[in-house]
Amino acid sequence: MGCAPSIHVSQSGVIYCRDSDESNSPHQTTTISQGTAATLHGLFIKTDAAETIPSVITYQSRHSRNNSYRKENSGGHIRIEAETQTSHASVKVSATEECVGPMRLTQEPIQVLLVFAKEDSQSDALWWACDRAGFRCNIARTPESAVECFLDKHHEIVVIDGRHSRYFEPEAVCRMIRATKPSENTVILAVVPQQPPDQEEPSVLPLLCAGFSRRFVENSSVSACYNELVQIEHGEVRCQFKLRACNSVFTALEHCQEAVEITSEDHIIQYVNPAFERMMGYHKGELIGKELTELPKSDKNRADLLDTINTCIKKGKEWQGIYYARKKSGDSIQQHVKIMPVIGQGGKIRHFVAIKRPQIDNNNQVHKLNKEERCSGEHSQSECHALRHRDRRKDSIDARSLSSRGSDAPSLQNRRYSSVARIHSMTIEAPITKVINIINAAQESSPVTVAEALDRVLEILRTTELYSPQLASKEDDPHTNDLVGGLMSDGLRRLSGNEYVFCKMCGVCPSVCLLDMSQSQLAIPVTLNDVPPSIAEMLNDEECWEFNILELEAATHKRPLTYLGLKIFTSFGVCEFLNCSEATLRSWLQLMETSYHSSNSYHNSTHAADVLHATAYFLRKERVKGSLDQLDEVAALIAATVHDVDHPGRTNSFLCNAGSELAILYNDTAVLESHHAALAFQLTVRDGKSNIFKNIDRNQFRTLRQAIIDMVLATEMTRHFEHVSKFVNSINKPMAAIEETSTSSVNSDCESQANIRNSPENRLLIKRMLIKCADVANPCRPLELCIEWAGRISEEYFAQTDEEKRQGLPVVMPVFDRNTCSIPKSQISFIDYFITDMFDAWDAFATLPGLMEHLSENYKYWKTLDEMKCKSLRPPPPS
Ligand code: AMP
Ligand code: ZN
Repeated sequence: MGCAPSIHVSQSGVIYCRDSDESNSPHQTTTISQGTAATLHGLFIKTDAAETIPSVITYQSRHSRNNSYRKENSGGHIRIEAETQTSHASVKVSATEECVGPMRLTQEPIQVLLVFAKEDSQSDALWWACDRAGFRCNIARTPESAVECFLDKHHEIVVIDGRHSRYFEPEAVCRMIRATKPSENTVILAVVPQQPPDQEEPSVLPLLCAGFSRRFVENSSVSACYNELVQIEHGEVRCQFKLRACNSVFTALEHCQEAVEITSEDHIIQYVNPAFERMMGYHKGELIGKELTELPKSDKNRADLLDTINTCIKKGKEWQGIYYARKKSGDSIQQHVKIMPVIGQGGKIRHFVAIKRPQIDNNNQVHKLNKEERCSGEHSQSECHALRHRDRRKDSIDARSLSSRGSDAPSLQNRRYSSVARIHSMTIEAPITKVINIINAAQESSPVTVAEALDRVLEILRTTELYSPQLASKEDDPHTNDLVGGLMSDGLRRLSGNEYVFCKMCGVCPSVCLLDMSQSQLAIPVTLNDVPPSIAEMLNDEECWEFNILELEAATHKRPLTYLGLKIFTSFGVCEFLNCSEATLRSWLQLMETSYHSSNSYHNSTHAADVLHATAYFLRKERVKGSLDQLDEVAALIAATVHDVDHPGRTNSFLCNAGSELAILYNDTAVLESHHAALAFQLTVRDGKSNIFKNIDRNQFRTLRQAIIDMVLATEMTRHFEHVSKFVNSINKPMAAIEETSTSSVNSDCESQANIRNSPENRLLIKRMLIKCADVANPCRPLELCIEWAGRISEEYFAQTDEEKRQGLPVVMPVFDRNTCSIPKSQISFIDYFITDMFDAWDAFATLPGLMEHLSENYKYWKTLDEMKCKSLRPPPPS
C-alpha cells in the first residue's frame, strides 16, 4: 500500500508513527527507550516526558511522495506529520463539495475512529479499508482514550468493537461518546459477531438505544469493510455533514438581533430564538409546541389584520407590515414583522418563518399601518423595489435611534459596538467574553432602562471576584465576617504589607517529616474477616446516614479510617478495580490514617473517616450513581480518605501569615489542599507495599490521579461559591427546566437529564460538589454528632487564636476566642453562609430528605441556644 508515515504525539507524550513501506499492518512495532531523540523514521518513539502506555494510534493517509515534515505544537499536543507523494489511483485526496440550500460546503477527508481493545484481522481490515477510501484513521484501545481522541478530532465515523465484552461494554463506550456534544452528527458503527447459522439473528434495538447508528457483522475482508465505510460516507455521513452545517444557521439565528419564530404549516410554534424570548418576555419552553392561536393577542390591531396576513401567506406569499403583539407581561409591543412561507417536502408549505423587530416610534414618525403592510406577491416589481428601499431607510433610522438614544454625539453604544467587534475578531474567546458579547448585543435592541441595567451587570461581570459574595459592610455579623475571612482568604488580603510577619519556628510548618506516627504500633486487622466482632457489628450500620463515627473512633482506638475504609472500599470493589490485594489496601489505609494528626481536635483521621462515610453514602444515591462511572467512584473514595492528610490543625490564612514552609512552597495559594493531595501521592507511591496504584495502567492512573487531585483541591473554601454556583447553573437549573417544561415523553426527559449529568464537564462539577458536601456534612448529622463536631472545630479554632496571640501573629478569626466565643452564633453563621444553599442544591440533585431534616433540626437547636444567650455547646443544666 502506498500510504505514508504519520507521527503523532498524543497528550500522554507518546509518538506513534507507522510507515506502511516498512510495515504492512497497523501494529505498533518498536518502542525506543525514554530519552531517545525523536527520529522521524522510527516506528514508535517515546519522548522524554512519555511514560504512558500507548492507547491511541493515529494513521493518516497522505498521498504525496516528496517527503515533507510538518511540526505543530499546540496546547500540549505536538504533531509531526510526514507527507509522502504517491500516485495511488484509487485514493481520493481532495476535499469534496456539498450544497445545503444556498450554502456551499467543503467536506474534508473523513475521519474514522476504531475502538478496538486488541488488534486482530477485523481491526486491520478496517484500517486498510480507511486507507483505501482515503479516510484518516485513529485506533483507540480503551474507552477513555477513545473519548479523549474523539473529543480532540470529532470523527465522522466511530467503529466500536462489539465482539468481546470482556474488554469493554460496547454499549457503554457508545454512550460515553454519545454523551459528548460533538457526537451529535457522528455515525457510530458496532462490529458484531457472526451468528452461527442455527441461531436467531439478535435484535438491533439494544444497539440503537445505546446510540449506535448501525451494525456491521464482522468481516475481515478489506473490500467488505471498504464497501461498508464508503456506503456510510455516501449516505449518513453526508447527511450528517449537511445537518452539522445547519448548526451554523442555528447559531446565526440564536445570535441575531431580530426575533425569529418558526411555525409548522398549521401554526404550531417549533422554534423561537433568544431575541424573540427577550422581546416577548417568554421562555422558549412556554412557547414551543403551542399553537399561535393559543397565545394572547393584542387588541390594538385592526380587526381584519390576522385574516389578511393568513390569506397572504397561505398563498405562498411573503407578508410584511406592522403588527401589535402581546408580551407575556400583558403589554402590547409594536413590531415590524415579516412572515415567509417555506416550501418543503412535496412542494407544499411546511413552515412559516416570522422575523420581528420592535417598531421604534422615532420622533412620532410612526409608519401608517395600512401603508406599511404588504403581501409581497401582490406588488409589481417597482413597488417591491420601493418597499425594499423604504425598508432600508427605515432600518437605518431605527439603527441610529437605537444606538444614539436620541443624542447626536458619538455614543457609548457606538463605542461599545467597536469594542465588541474587536472582541469578536479574537480567535480564542473566554466564556466570560462570550457572556459580555451577548449582553452587549442584547443592549443594542433593548429599551434604555434595560440597557442601563445591563451596564450595571457588565460592570459586575468585569470584576475578577465573581464568585465571592460581598458582605454588605464590616458591621455585619462578626461571626460571619470572621468565618468568611478566615476560611476564604489566604491571610494576605486582610493585611497591609508590613504586617506580614515571617515566623521561622512557628511549629506549624508541617512537611512529610512532621507526620504524626505515634499510633503506628496499634494492632490492625489482617483482613476484613479479622475485624473484632464488636467493630464488625458497628460497621454493619455503615450504609446508614446516622452511623455513629464517634463510637467507631472509640472502639478502634482512634483508627476509624482504616476499619471503615476497609469496609467501604471492599463494598465498592476498589481492590478489584485497582487490581491490588486487600493487604496493599490495608497497608495504604493504615499509612494514610497515621499521616493524620491525632492531636488535632477536628482535623484528625476521624474527620477523614466521617468524610469517607458521607462520600460513600452520596455515591450510593441513585442520581449520583447514574452520573458517575466506577473510576469516578474510586477517585471520590480515595480523595475523601486523603483530603486532609497531615493537616496541621491551622487554617490556610494562619500558615500564610506565619510564613510557613508550606505557604512558601505553594505560594500562599490553596496551601493545605495542595499539600494534602501532593503528600497523599508521595506517600502512596513511595513503597510498593502500600501502593494501591501499582497494578493499574498508566493512562488509568493519570485519569484517576487527575480526578483525585481535582476533588481534594475542590475542598478549598476560597472557591466555595464558584463550585456551588457552577453546579447550580450547569446542573440544577437545566435539570429543573426539563422537569418544568416536560410535556413530552418521560423517556426523552430522562435522556435529556442524563445527557446533562453525564457530560464530562458536569461529572466534574458533580464530583466536586460531592466531596465538598461530604467534607462539611457535620451540620447535617444527627444532633449529638453535630454538637460534637461543632465542639471539635471550635476547639481547633480556639487553639489557633491562642497561638496567634502567643506568636504575635494577626488573629485571623477574632470571634473564635475561647473566652468570648458564642459557639451557637458561629454555627448559625456557618450554616447560613456556607451550608444552606449548598445542601439545597445537592439535595435537589441527590435527594437527601434525611440530611435536610437533621440540618433544619440542628439549626433550630443553635437558634434556641442563641436566643437563650447561651454561648456554649449545650444549654446549662436546669438549676
Ligand atoms: P476541610 O479543612 O477540608 O475539612 O474544609 C472544611 C472547612 O470548613 C474547614 O475550614 C473547616 O474548618 C470548616 N468547617 C467544617 N465544619 C465546620 C463547622 N461546623 N463550623 C465551622 N466551620 C466548619
Ligand atoms: Zn476536611
